Amino acid sequence: MIPPLLTFLRVRCYRFRIMPDETASCLFCRIMRGEIPSKRIYEDEHVYAFEDISPKAPTHVLVIPKKHFAGLKEAQSSDAEIIGRCHLAAALIARQRKIENGYRTVLNVGPGAGQSVFHLHVHLLGGRTLTWPPG
Ligand code: 5GP
Ligand code: ZN
Repeated sequence: MIPPLLTFLRVRCYRFRIMPDETASCLFCRIMRGEIPSKRIYEDEHVYAFEDISPKAPTHVLVIPKKHFAGLKEAQSSDAEIIGRCHLAAALIARQRKIENGYRTVLNVGPGAGQSVFHLHVHLLGGRTLTWPPG
């Protein structure tokens, strides 16, 4: 008879194989781990902020939670605080950049809204006139 601990470990290994760790291949997790270079703007225990590689405004910073989740659609109520922290980090960066006269924080949600990276990120855009409505 197989001891219960061995059975448990076999089940865990099996589950690990069929549920690969999505953070391993996630672009923004890889940036956070330093596997892909980025221009760091701000970091604390909870969030990481870096320059967008293809800026759409003089300031275009991405703020990401250190915890991986795909986007706003996938967020749980337990993610409320970290989503708030991402926005507060964006506000801090906007203050440091002296663009408080007018900036925008944007969450693209789903491919139809232009989301191309599925690790939640807040765009901070500023340093130029921002028209409304956005495209
Ligand atoms: P989304 O389209 O998902 O809302 O935003 C993804 C953003 O990530 C885009 O603005 C894009 O320019 C940026 N991006 C994509 N790949 C990289 C990268 O390798 N490095 C950096 N810094 N930004 C990236
Ligand atoms: Zn990720």
